[in-house]
Amino acid sequence: MAQKKSKLHELEIIVCIKPVPDPRKWDKLKLDPETMLLNRSQVPPVINALDLNAIEQAMQIKETNGGKVTVVTMAPPDAADQLQEALALGCDQAYLLSDIAFAGADTLATARCLAAAIKKIGRIDLVFCGAYSLDGSTSQVGPQVAELLEIPDLTHVVKLQIEGEGVKAECKTESADVIFESQFPALITFDREVNQPRLPGMVGIRRAKDISVVKWNAADLGINTDQVGLKGSPTQMLNVFTPTIGRKGEILQGSALELTSQLLSKLRTEKLLQ
Ligand SMILES: Cc1cc2nc3c(=O)[nH]c(=O)nc-3n(C[C@H](O)[C@H](O)[C@H](O)COP(=O)(O)OP(=O)(O)OC[C@H]3O[C@@H](n4cnc5c(N)ncnc54)[C@H](O)[C@@H]3O)c2cc1C
Repeated sequence: MAQKKSKLHELEIIVCIKPVPDPRKWDKLKLDPETMLLNRSQVPPVINALDLNAIEQAMQIKETNGGKVTVVTMAPPDAADQLQEALALGCDQAYLLSDIAFAGADTLATARCLAAAIKKIGRIDLVFCGAYSLDGSTSQVGPQVAELLEIPDLTHVVKLQIEGEGVKAECKTESADVIFESQFPALITFDREVNQPRLPGMVGIRRAKDISVVKWNAADLGINTDQVGLKGSPTQMLNVFTPTIGRKGEILQGSALELTSQLLSKLRTEKLLQ
């Protein structure tokens, strides 16, 4: 959707991106029954798909209104590659929040880290997230970050427009698409219908190489290590298992007419037909 020109100031936008296992290789993901975590070692990480929509939206706003786009992730050190990709797409600066104390974080512990970093980065107008991640898929991180920053959040946004000192957003809900308005600062989570993410170009890739990723650990964020990682996670994982999916096969015998009648009778017994 076309953006209106903001006359008042250039926007400061932060995009939160999560590295997730490449969905094209999910057949190699294994659940570790001991640690109850996903063993991701065989699957390379990529930027969560909806976070690419969030980056695209930030780029479109920057191209129309000017401003700066900062990308942030809480992840292991090798996520610097996903941040480089975000820089190649046009983001201006990148922060990697990485510390052994962050390992095993649930959504609240993740949100605490992201909120602490966003506060430290300084003035913000908009924080963008994906509506959900492809692996955890809780949709909780964006709203939790907004709550910790004490700013409004508009979730599952499929259209966004800058209107003066705020935004007008079309949000997808179960019953209808609803229009909400908010002043800056606000946090927005995006669904994939919002736009078609661009691909990085050669100019962007070369530009990205000149930008250093800033790395912050728990001490840099001034965050108590009891509040992050597994220690700071109120979620308790009690069990993980792969559900067994079985099919019962039955071959019917008889003429075409008999087969049809047997089939209909079975479907009615199973209450699959009235
Ligand atoms: C007890 C427990 C232990 C866990 N241990 C681990 C573990 O060791 N390793 C692990 O990878 N996962 C672990 N998880 C999963 C972890 O909780 C989630 O991966 C993480 O908190 C994000 O939740 P989500 O994927 O549901 O995000 P959603 O809320 O579905 O994500 C929405 C959006 O939030 C933003 N976002 C989410 N996470 C991040 C991030 N890290 N950085 C920047 N932006 C982000 C993105 O914009 C994303 O599109 C654990 C979960 C539990 C309950």
